Amino acid sequence: MHERSLVQTLLNQVQQIVADDGGGVVKEIQVQVGDLSGVEPLLFESAFTELAREWFPQECRLVLDIVPVKAECRLCGQCFEVQDNEFLCPACGTGPVEVIQGDQVKLMSITVDSENSVSGAKS
Ligand SMILES: [Zn+2]
Repeated sequence: MHERSLVQTLLNQVQQIVADDGGGVVKEIQVQVGDLSGVEPLLFESAFTELAREWFPQECRLVLDIVPVKAECRLCGQCFEVQDNEFLCPACGTGPVEVIQGDQVKLMSITVDSENSVSGAKS
């Protein structure tokens, strides 16, 4: 159940950012979830619903942005979308590739009260 601990980490992060920013009511949390992060969006959402109730008494919305996995070939520099866990460079077919997107869970933005939006997560 690592979704639960991810949500916990996320909520810690959110509280920290909001506190640094002078506090306020968190209305919405936007999170980017990579296809390769191993996170099950539904489990993530239910863990959030459960934990957010303890952390934020007010209604807080969770927006999940699922992003595809992208990799870059170390040999020829080709960027491509990884499908079906096929980590092979489509250009040269050989190079070792590096995942550049889609393997993590990232806090994208927090909406506090109705107007203020805090963006940029400290990871
Ligand atoms: Zn290549």
